This record gives sequence, structure tokens and C-alpha cells, in this order.
Amino acid sequence: MIPAQFKKLLVALEHLTDKQTKDVEKFLKGDNLIQPIIAELEQRMIDEPECPHCHSCLINRHGKSAAMQRYRCKNCTKTFNAVTKTPLARLQHKEKWLDYLQCLINGKVLRASATDCDINLKTSFRWRHRFLQLSATMKATLLEADETLFARSEKGNRTLERKPRKRGMKAKKRGRSKEDWVPVLTVRDRGKHTYEAIILSVSTEQLNKELEGKILKDSVLCTDGFRSYIKFAQGNDLIHKRLDVAAGVQVIEKVFHIQNVNAYHSRLKAWMDRFHGVATKYLENYLGWFRFLDTNENPNKNNLFKAQQHLAGT
Ligand SMILES: [Zn+2]
Repeated sequence: MIPAQFKKLLVALEHLTDKQTKDVEKFLKGDNLIQPIIAELEQRMIDEPECPHCHSCLINRHGKSAAMQRYRCKNCTKTFNAVTKTPLARLQHKEKWLDYLQCLINGKVLRASATDCDINLKTSFRWRHRFLQLSATMKATLLEADETLFARSEKGNRTLERKPRKRGMKAKKRGRSKEDWVPVLTVRDRGKHTYEAIILSVSTEQLNKELEGKILKDSVLCTDGFRSYIKFAQGNDLIHKRLDVAAGVQVIEKVFHIQNVNAYHSRLKAWMDRFHGVATKYLENYLGWFRFLDTNENPNKNNLFKAQQHLAGT
């Protein structure tokens, strides 16, 4: 604001009623505290669009309300904004948040915060918990997990041919010899973030070992319902959606499916075919190279070059 305008503003402020003065104070105070949080949540909605009701990423802008962008989900048609289903949305007495956040920032104990904000101790406890949980809760997401198998190959042995993939063979494949096949676990979110790991076997122990600390509580995990995934989901507080693909169940409740991760595996396999069987010791490099090619729309030449250097050893 230019100085002349600011002077005008100061003059205008002299004519405020008491109520208006309080509102202005509240506005200034509130803007400083709550806006960065809301701005961050709104930015996330732009970076990684996701309906908080059904986790679909197909959303449209749908007007504004209370100075916040509203959205409408193409899938479930519900409307929402960036704070819907976050702890912020559930809090009552919204007018007191700002004071409460200030108490948190000042490091006040629960009882002092309660007194300051004119709320009871129980509410004070609940609010603190929710505010502190905010960032963790936001990361809970919709995930698809599945594994795919690669023929084990010793270095230099490029002749080992894989048999063509057959549909419905999965359960049997899992029982196949560890000497012949290497399982690759893939976990993917709807924002196309991909986590991949070569595992010894598709066991609960291996899943726990590979994914420990990488998936947040309350995330929805979609799998084909193999028993290791069931146990893994139970042990990690995940909501588990089991797609019995072999029995023809492709989608549950319109949004829960493993089609993204399966499509990813198909692209990966098609791409890998050109190498006619890769040495297992370099499999991780190939996986990394493909992840890079598949997720970066504008591949950075330096990164690509690095990936190719790794491959030069095969
Ligand atoms: Zn939706």
C-alpha cells in the first residue's frame, strides 16, 4: 500500500465503532495466524487434487464461500473446500481457534489455554490434539499396492526367457520358487507417487519391513486381498479395500481399485521386455529408470544421464 493510502486508512480507522474496532483487531490477528495454514491446505488441493469424501482426483472448482475456494467432486458430486474433513473443519467455536493457536504458539499449558479462550479443559485437550495432528492427518491418502514378478537372472545370463503372462495366475505365481522369481512391491498413490521395493517374498513381515513408517494411519489401502496385505493393513491401522480381481471385482464404491498400480506394472513390463531379461543385481536400477521415465513429463537430461550410467554396468 502506498503511504498516501495508508494515511487515509489510519484516518478512516478513527471513525470505527467499538464493535468495528474489535473486528479489525480480530481480522489482523487472525490473518497472521490462520492464513498460512489455510493457504497451505489450499495449495495442497491444487498440487494434489483429491476429494476428501471419496478420494477421487477428478474435481472442479465450484465458486467461493467464506473467502475459500469451493470444489465439487466429479465422482461423488459432493462439495468441499481445503479444510473439509481436516481437524479444522470439525472444530466448534471457530472464532476461538485463533486465540487458541496463539496459546499453542506461546507454549501455554492446557489449563491456561482453556482459561484464555474461555473453553473447558476437555475441549482444550481435544483442540490441542487436533491442531497438532493436522499435518499427519493430511497425509493420510488413498493407496494401491500390488506386486509383480521378474525372472531371476544372474549377471551375464540374458537368455532366460519369461513365459507370457496369463491372467488369473497370480495366486499360483506367488507360490513360485524364490530361486526363479523376484517379487517387486509397488505402492502408488493417486498423485502418481510411486514407492517400489524388491522383496524376498510377499509376506507380512516383508511388507512391514519395507513400508514401516512410510504409510500413515487412516490411509486407505487397495489390494487384491492377498492374506499378507490383509494382515499388514490390520497391523498398521489402515482401511483396507480388497479387490477380488480374479472374481471380476474391479472397483469398489466407484473409487477403490488397483487399476493404476496394475497399469503401471503393465507399462513397466512392456518397457522391460526390450532388454530381454535383465540381471537381477541391476533390476533396481531399471526400476528406478522406468519410475523416472513414467512420472516425469519433462525428463531432466542430467537425471536421465545418471540413470543410464547405472545401466551401463549391465
Ligand atoms: Zn468425491
